Parts: sequence; C-alpha cells; structure tokens
Amino acid sequence: EQSEKDSMLVVTNYASQYYTDQLWNSEDGKSIGLSYFKERGFREETIKKFELGYSHDQWDGFTKNAIEKGYKTEFLTKTGLSIERDNANENSEKKFFDRFRGRVMFPIHNVAGRVTAFGARILKADKTQAKYLNSIESVIYHKSKILYGLFQAKQAIRKEEECLLVEGYTDVISLHQSGVENVVASSGTSLTEDQIKLVKRYTPNITILYDGDAAGLKASLRGVDLILQQDMNVSIVVFPQGEDPDSYVQKIGPTAFKDYIKSNKKDFISFKTEISLKEIGNDPIKRAEVIKDIVESISKVPDAIKRSVFFRECSKLLEIDEQILISEYNKKAIQKG
Ligand code: ATP
Ligand code: MN
Ligand code: MN
Ligand code: MN
Repeated sequence: EQSEKDSMLVVTNYASQYYTDQLWNSEDGKSIGLSYFKERGFREETIKKFELGYSHDQWDGFTKNAIEKGYKTEFLTKTGLSIERDNANENSEKKFFDRFRGRVMFPIHNVAGRVTAFGARILKADKTQAKYLNSIESVIYHKSKILYGLFQAKQAIRKEEECLLVEGYTDVISLHQSGVENVVASSGTSLTEDQIKLVKRYTPNITILYDGDAAGLKASLRGVDLILQQDMNVSIVVFPQGEDPDSYVQKIGPTAFKDYIKSNKKDFISFKTEISLKEIGNDPIKRAEVIKDIVESISKVPDAIKRSVFFRECSKLLEIDEQILISEYNKKAIQKG
C-alpha cells in the first residue's frame, strides 16, 4: 500500500537526519564516529555527500527521540529501525529498542535519492558481532534490487558509458572521493538479475572491481553468466592480494589508481579462460571441463557477432581450433532445442 510505504520512507529519512546530526553535533558522534571516518581517510565533504552518520551505543536513543517527535512505532518497527521487545509488558517504558547501536551509519538511497535503509559498521574488530549490520528486508528495501551508490553515480555512469561494480560501501565512497564517480556496490552479495537490469538502464558496459582475495574472485566469477545473458559487456579488474578498491586507491592515490584500472582491465571471457588455464596444467580431463565451461559462458552472449569474437579469442588462449569450440557450442544449442 502506497501510504504505508510513504510513512516508512518518512521514518527512514528522519532516521538518516538523526544519525547525521549525531555524527556532527554530539560528543560521542564527533569523538568516535567522525574520527573513525577521518582515520579511514574520508574528507568532510565526502562524509556529507554520502550523508554518513553515527548511532549511539544506547538502548533506545533513536527510538525514544522518534517517538517523542511523533513517529508511530508501527513504522519504526516495519522499517526495522526499532525492535519490539518480546518480554516487555504493556506499560513497560522501554518496550522498543534501537536496531543500530554504536555503529557508523551508511544510508542506502533508492534511485530517486530517498533513504530506504542503512548499512551499519562496527568501529573496532569484534568477533562476537557482525562487521556490517543491514536494515531488514521490507516493502521499501529489497536488498537484491538495490545497488548502493546508484543515486550518486547515475549521471557519471551515463557520461562515462560504463558502470564500475565494487563489493562494499567504503569502496564506493573512496572512489568518489578520488574522482571516480561511476561506481556502485552490490554490498557483498552476488549480483542479481534485478541489479543488472538497473545498471542496464544507464549503460551496457560493466566493469567488475572485486576484492583481491579468494572470496572476491569467486564472487566475480559467479553472477557473470547472468550479466552476459543480459547482452552486457563485462570486464574485470583484479586487485593485488589483500587489497580492495578502497584500500588500494588510498594506498596509491587517484592518478595511479585510474592508470591501474586502465591497464589491468580484461574482458571477462578472456579473463575466465586465463585463470582456468592456470588451474588445469596438463590434466586433459580438467582441460575438457574448462573448455565446456567457457563455451557455456560464451553461449550466454545473445549477440552472434560478439560470440564469434569470443570464440576466436578463446581459441588462441586455449590453443585449440576455433571450430572445435564452435562445434561444442552447436552441440549444446541442439540439445537445448
Ligand atoms: P571495510 O573496509 O569497512 O572493512 P568492506 O566493504 O571492505 O568494509 P568486505 O568484508 O570486503 O568489507 O565486505 C564487502 C561488503 O559486504 C560490505 O561493504 C558489506 O556491504 C557486506 N558485508 C560484509 N560483511 C558483512 C556482514 N557481516 N553482514 C552483512 N554484510 C556484510
Ligand atoms: Mn572482501
Ligand atoms: Mn575494505
Ligand atoms: Mn572489501
């Protein structure tokens, strides 16, 4: 129902205002939250641009304030910002408490620029707590249908005719600060069809910038057949072991970072072929599997001309006759009917 969604959006946008106010104007906000961001290398203008905030380490600081301001507990709980205590009796004062406590806050905007949810990070490493806590799924926030940063990036994506895809909130923010604004984050999950369709509204070109670790590599290999299927052009940039776009741009600076992207960008199918080749060595069975797997990826490309370019390219890399790849493809095409 529309009025329910509207009421929830009013609450999430008030919350965002509340958390930014806490960050800039409260003692803890300044000494804990703001210093955290500054230590990570975020400048004030960047912190403002992304409307970053701070939630106090209090039981119900936000909830109490919002109730006092007249916001209904129905919408505070539906947005997941407040949680109703199981064991509270009717007249208990502290019946509701805050979901986000003692964390720095990353508001998540929809394409129209309204805050629909939050990602919230703990300040210090703590194995007993999740590093990031997100808002709950709700009628205004479907994690699988949102790309973090798209609202801030959409114009740059159109202009650059390319969308960079990173894993995390802080990757998006650091890149913006370095003058790379055509960037969005999948927020740690593998890319969904809905997210790809969102990007496709702005550009057919997508470049994956995933973390230089095993998880990042796996995440980038997954999901890609889905992108190819949407007739998008997929490239990939791999970062040195242990680096992510945020850490790397802060380490080497904006200019070197942009050069790194330019000179390390690989079209996805060649990339997949190259890393598969490294894994197989001389094992003929593995080799056959890899060939099938790559043909599978190429078969996802709807455009016949692009497909033939990939067959040629991969036949060189695999040192195998192009016709063998094509006949493998035709075999599959027949099987699929
Ligand atoms: P930071 O630099 O602050 O440590 P990051 O973005 O580099 O953050 P990663 O561990 O690389 O963190 O994870 C990438 C993204 O995955 C995060 O930005 C976040 O959206 C999501 N994520 C990570 N850990 C969790 C978690 N415990 N629960 C939910 N989402 C998570
Ligand atoms: Mn990672
Ligand atoms: Mn990081
Ligand atoms: Mn990371």
